[in-house]
Amino acid sequence: MSALLTGRRIAILATDGVEGIELTEPHRALEEAGATVELLAPQAGSIQSMDHQEKRESLPVDRRVSEADPGDYDGLVLPGGVMNADKLRVNPTTICGSDLHILKGDVPAVTDGRILGHEGVGVVDEVGDAVIGFKVGDRVIISCISSCGKCENCKKSMYSHCLNGGGWILGHLIDGTHAEYVRIPFGDNSLYPVPYGADEEALVMISDILPTGFEIGVLNGHVQPGDTIAIVGAGPVGLSALITAQLYSPAKLIMIDLEDARLEVAKQLGATHTVNSSSPDAVDQVMAVGDGIGVNVALEAVGIPPTLELCQAIVVPGGHIANVGVHGKPVQLDMEKLWIHNITLTTGLVDTRTIPMLLKMVVSGKLRPQQLITHHFSLDQVEAAYDTFGNAAKEKALKVIITA
Ligand code: NAD
Ligand code: ZN
Repeated sequence: MSALLTGRRIAILATDGVEGIELTEPHRALEEAGATVELLAPQAGSIQSMDHQEKRESLPVDRRVSEADPGDYDGLVLPGGVMNADKLRVNPTTICGSDLHILKGDVPAVTDGRILGHEGVGVVDEVGDAVIGFKVGDRVIISCISSCGKCENCKKSMYSHCLNGGGWILGHLIDGTHAEYVRIPFGDNSLYPVPYGADEEALVMISDILPTGFEIGVLNGHVQPGDTIAIVGAGPVGLSALITAQLYSPAKLIMIDLEDARLEVAKQLGATHTVNSSSPDAVDQVMAVGDGIGVNVALEAVGIPPTLELCQAIVVPGGHIANVGVHGKPVQLDMEKLWIHNITLTTGLVDTRTIPMLLKMVVSGKLRPQQLITHHFSLDQVEAAYDTFGNAAKEKALKVIITA
């Protein structure tokens, strides 16, 4: 032990009032072993380890950037100016329904030439000066949401609205994962280690779709045991909600889509009923499954006005509408009906705060999101991958895996 400690400085973060704190026995033992023990007072944004503190102090001045500009890598800094990004070699990645919304023009903040993609697993290639949790060569899962972990919103696990320039920025405000390499801002809080031996393609589903279906659909929608649930949109996100809703034992799970092929997949993944919404009596079919009164929870996982309107038409009094879809235009809310029926409507951008829990369930095999993977492409076939995912009905595509 002494050999290990000799010459090392050990910092102890005091809880408050540094003065007057006596060195206790373990500290003395450390000193006797050759370490210099210091007491540090905590401060806002203070750093947990001496190594990190030393790194910060030794940064050359030209690495410090004072203003965050989310469009620029050099702006990916914490106040105080420490580069805290990891550079990753991406492998594998996938395409999201949101990427299609971007191509459709529904997300105007995306500028021409932006590299899309916010999902993937990769290997750390370079580590920013402020990153302490990862090293070169680590295999990591990328969260679609980058977050500092330190601001007021991050402290509430509302990572999607990180106040330090994080949030959904990957493949949106900064270049994303549909590339050989990607820069992940706030590496410590935006990446998760790949457990040894895990199926990495399954883990790609954890970057976005599984937490989105679960957090914005199932949790926001307050799915309860015995409930009747309708999920509008049987794409990867709707199917992720279908998979994770079953953790709460709903009695009936109705999947609604225009594509019979996707509805077939939904049945294999646990849907008890399916309704093709192109059918003129689609609402009646849902109401019949809902014992004539409707569904306790209506999840919208498409992102267009008619599907949110459908949710309003099928939800029971006291029920929940959980909107998951990315909308590009206003939608009519029938407030004159919703208020008197005690309906709760939730919306949201995923926080990915449930990644640690979902990761355990995927690794243990309790959740098997790899069932959503239908196609594989190499990175130089990325256009074909977009064509396939964009023509999902014809191609019978769900998640397409792209490998560099
Ligand atoms: P997707 O495009 O693969 O799936 C959408 C599904 O909706 C398709 O199966 C399509 O056939 C179906 N659909 C289209 N019109 C319909 C209609 N009128 N009635 C019934 N079904 C209809 O997309 P995805 O990857 O599953 O994503 C679903 C939505 O979730 C998208 O809007 C995406 O942008 C959004 N999303 C939101 C978040 C968030 O944080 N809130 C995160 C990721 C994705
Ligand atoms: Zn933050």
